[in-house]
Amino acid sequence: MPKPIIAIVGRPNVGKSTIFNRIVGERVSIVEDIPGVTRDRIYSSGEWLNVDFNIIDTGGIDIGDEPFLEQIKQQAEIAIDEADVIIFLVNGRDGITAADEEVAKILYKSKKPVVLAVNKVDNPEMRELIYDFYALGYGEPFPISGTHGLGLGDLLDEAAKHFPKEKDEDYGEDVIKFSLIGRPNVGKSSLVNALLGEDRVIVSDLAGTTRDAIDTKFTKEDQEYVVIDTAGMRKRGKVYESTEKYSVLRALKAIERSDVVLVVLNAEEGIIEQDKKIAGYAQEAGKAVVIVVNKWDTVEKDEKTMKKFEENIREHFQFLTYAPIVFLSAKTKKRTHTLLPMIDLASESHAVRVETSILNDVIMDAVAMNPTPTHNGNRLKIYYTTQVAIKPPTFVVFVNDPELMHFSYKRFLENKLREAFGFEGTPIKIIARPRK
Ligand code: GDP
Ligand code: GDP
Repeated sequence: MPKPIIAIVGRPNVGKSTIFNRIVGERVSIVEDIPGVTRDRIYSSGEWLNVDFNIIDTGGIDIGDEPFLEQIKQQAEIAIDEADVIIFLVNGRDGITAADEEVAKILYKSKKPVVLAVNKVDNPEMRELIYDFYALGYGEPFPISGTHGLGLGDLLDEAAKHFPKEKDEDYGEDVIKFSLIGRPNVGKSSLVNALLGEDRVIVSDLAGTTRDAIDTKFTKEDQEYVVIDTAGMRKRGKVYESTEKYSVLRALKAIERSDVVLVVLNAEEGIIEQDKKIAGYAQEAGKAVVIVVNKWDTVEKDEKTMKKFEENIREHFQFLTYAPIVFLSAKTKKRTHTLLPMIDLASESHAVRVETSILNDVIMDAVAMNPTPTHNGNRLKIYYTTQVAIKPPTFVVFVNDPELMHFSYKRFLENKLREAFGFEGTPIKIIARPRK
């Protein structure tokens, strides 16, 4: 089931990113006194009453050179498109401004639930500031203070009441769900079209609509796949669709619903910082990853070109050492037929379950080869290892003291597990726990 999404909307300086940080519980976005400052992270996860949700700070999505009011309006539209619940934030100290009214007007037009929050109510005496805001027409305003962390519990209680009850489309265990992420124009839609146009591919459902995502289901040789839409693949003609932040937002949603994520690079342009950022999200989410170098037709090649390109990728994507790389051209269709088998492989690795006795043999052999580290005279002891989850494969190692399991030793164990079981295309997790 996908996490519910909350979006925070409001004009600049009402405290959106302050509230975002409070709710997320860490200072992930940069709060500055400069209005409209570029924020690093605008999307993150939070938890309230044991429900995980995602939250978007729409204030961090700047839309080109649009005038101030137009930007706010578009941010509100993004919230309407992307969120399940909208927190409409105003500044209690300013009263209702013209910009607040504009936001209110846009939100009226949608059916999404809106919770009105009046920020900067820093003490109980200031509570009466909320009464003016009834005039916005969103019922009882919730007084909060981002700076002091007041009122957020009540606000989230109210937001959580509106979380959707329906489940994500259930395609079944055997269906491989994948998405293509990458900058605009790297060739994601061309690649999907090339895949769907392959021999023996049968597209069964062109518009299975799950909430607002558009999925395409297809079959090849008895294997069923669903390709999950991200921004840039089915353009709806809205101005903000071409912005970087918005495409990241869509990518994150798609990543979450996927088993396998194809990180698409453009061979013509090489690797840029944004590619790494996007790929980092797939890694963080624990998804299987295949790196696709598209537009290979545009590159002038000799016998060393591919190897050089590969080395360059490995250097930039050190966190994705396990991801296979495919070089292809969506345009000429050269080697596009190698992609589905690679997706199959990554998906298989992602769901591998290792037999416990074999797992422990591999770990014990590893320990015999490279003795466990010591710290202050204490040696790490490994008692027993068990796989606790798939997608991605997750291993719990029971030890005398988890503190003694250094990063480098964990990395060594990971390498040994990879040597033994492959896991090509998938991250794996190793967690040290004290034996009780
Ligand atoms: P945004 O532009 O809507 O994201 O607003 P920011 O989160 O950047 O906040 C704008 C300014 O208001 C910053 O100087 C914050 O420190 C300040 N601010 C945010 N929340 C509160 C609050 O609850 N009380 C007070 N007094 N100031 C706040
Ligand atoms: P998206 O924004 O990532 O979905 O990218 P598109 O699929 O819309 O492709 C962007 C542009 O790149 C279009 O003009 C495509 O025709 C072109 N393109 C896509 N794949 C290839 C390729 O393999 N080789 C070349 N030369 N051009 C490509």
